Amino acid sequence: MSDLQSRLREIPQVSAVLEDARLSNLMEGRRRTWTGRIVQAEVDRLRERLREQTGAIADRAVLHEQVVAATLDRCGRLLRPAWTRVINATGVVVHTNLGRVNLPARAADAARTVATRYSDLEMDLVSGARGHRGRLVEQKAALLTGAADALVVNNNAAALWLAVRYLAKGGPVLLSRGEVVAIGGSFRLDEIIGETGSRLIEVGTTNRTTLADYERALVPGAVVLKVHRSNFAVEGFTAEVSLAELAALCARKGCPLVYDAGSGLLVAPTDLGLPAGESLLAEDVATGCDLVTCSGDKLLGGCQAGLILGRADHVAGLREHPLRRAVRVDKMTLAALDGVLTAYLEATGLPDVPALAALAQTPAQLQARAERLCAALAARAPVGWRLSVVADESSVGGGSYATAGMETRLVALAAPRAELESCHQHLRRQDPAVVARLNHDVLAVDPRTLAADEESMLVDAFAGAWNAASLGDRVVTRG
Ligand SMILES: *Cc1c(COP(=O)(O)O)cnc(C)c1O
Repeated sequence: MSDLQSRLREIPQVSAVLEDARLSNLMEGRRRTWTGRIVQAEVDRLRERLREQTGAIADRAVLHEQVVAATLDRCGRLLRPAWTRVINATGVVVHTNLGRVNLPARAADAARTVATRYSDLEMDLVSGARGHRGRLVEQKAALLTGAADALVVNNNAAALWLAVRYLAKGGPVLLSRGEVVAIGGSFRLDEIIGETGSRLIEVGTTNRTTLADYERALVPGAVVLKVHRSNFAVEGFTAEVSLAELAALCARKGCPLVYDAGSGLLVAPTDLGLPAGESLLAEDVATGCDLVTCSGDKLLGGCQAGLILGRADHVAGLREHPLRRAVRVDKMTLAALDGVLTAYLEATGLPDVPALAALAQTPAQLQARAERLCAALAARAPVGWRLSVVADESSVGGGSYATAGMETRLVALAAPRAELESCHQHLRRQDPAVVARLNHDVLAVDPRTLAADEESMLVDAFAGAWNAASLGDRVVTRG
């Protein structure tokens, strides 16, 4: 018998593994089908491994143990929620990898109620006839931005795709070469426009696009698109045509203008401590664009959604579009967005929206929070770690305000590099996990993105990570 054959002969039978007492305990009362599939997959993986392996032949009992351990591990992980709560200590407010932004509690409560109870989602309770709750949410968005009407879809990518598809109807779409951008891993303007069935006409050059460039390229039936450069800046010898100039040109030529605003800003950036210069959605709408699109979960501070704002006839047309159903949102999204927009409608000052509150903190407030955290962490830090409060910058994140940093205060933890790395890694394995910033020689915590009740949780997570990183035996309690 060949070496390989004798190796493979030791592979345990799926049925034998399933009879193991440890697994039958786990599977008691549970569906055999999925657990059986996991055992099968683990046995298949083992077979692949053995095919590639040389050297000593493990016997069946050892392999059986390996399959049981791997199965228990996978089943255990599958029976837990698919994600872990994270304390965002990075200071990046719109953090796409951490779920972008936190909803206001009222919006989350509204989503929960509508998710677990029947509601008048599509019924008018007065007449008993068919109605649309979504229309009221869209009216709120329209009123907040001054748009004639609004439509809510799955996300901004869907909003842009649907708006361009509807207005261009397969005709050419003009876009400045400097705005043919990629956002995130899967949003590329050239591809999105390709998928609308339209032909992209790039206008101008990478660094300079002038009104004359648009005028030359503008053919009857074309749609002009402008896209916010959310995640990068161009500097040096540059020229860009403003939305207002484009609107005037499009009005003169009778061509529709679509603006992808990216982040939906409803309050003045200066009220958030951000530099002036970014336009508000209301300003974009007022410029005379036919349609403006934005995300619901960037600076708007809501949930994943896309807003299409603009002319009533266009929005009505979009609402009837055969592909609209393919990009429509769930009732939980509508309820959450409704909660957020209502917070904006109610507000006399800054709306009660966590993302806005995180941005609006002053350096003095952040200094006080950082000092408090620094003291609490220092009381539990391992010997040899040096903690201090330092001035630095937070970023808005999520492709908003690409170059603007916001003044903040960090708790900087300095220690040997290996200890920092180990701690950083173990922080991510705590529950809640902590994602902090690891710079060259310090591990840093930015209080900007910590909720008030997360400060003590963060300290506990650090203590847990120090222990898990075996720095724990050196932990002394001071004071
Ligand atoms: C973020 C962004 C998008 C994508 O928005 P999603 O809501 O994530 O689909 C599109 N365009 C611009 C300019 C953006 O900044």
